Amino acid sequence: MIEHVFRTASKYLPETVTLPIFTGILIALVLLVIVVPAGWLWWRHYQRNRFIYRFGILWDKKHRPFCATCRTLLGNWNSHSGWKFESQQGRTVRQPITYYAFDCPICTKPVRLVDHDGYEVTLEYALAELQAPSTED
Ligand SMILES: [Zn+2]
Repeated sequence: MIEHVFRTASKYLPETVTLPIFTGILIALVLLVIVVPAGWLWWRHYQRNRFIYRFGILWDKKHRPFCATCRTLLGNWNSHSGWKFESQQGRTVRQPITYYAFDCPICTKPVRLVDHDGYEVTLEYALAELQAPSTED
C-alpha cells in the first residue's frame, strides 16, 4: 500500500527520497496526527483537573491562587481603593472604599475574592475554607 503511494508520489519528490525515507516520513506524519490531538486533549483534561474554582478565582492543588480569566498565578494581595455608590435620602452618593484584592499582571486589574453569594471574603478565610473539607459545589 505504501509502495503504491510512494510510486505515485515519487514523481513529485526529489530523487533522494527513497522508499524507506518515504515510509519514515509517512509514519512520522501519522504519529503527528495522532499524538498532537491526543496531547492537546490530555493537556485540556490536565488543566481542568489542576484547578478548582472557588471565591471567583482558580486554585491549584497547593492552594495557590490563579486568575479565572487568564490562568496566571496571582500575587500581591493588598489593599486597593475604589468607590461605591450608595443611596442616601433618595440621592446616589459616591463613597470611597478600600478593599483587598490580588493584582493580575496579565489582565491588569484587581481580582477580588467573593463567595457564591457575591460577598467579599478575606484571603485568610478563603484559604481556611479551601483547607477545610467541604461539600460545597
Ligand atoms: Zn488575569
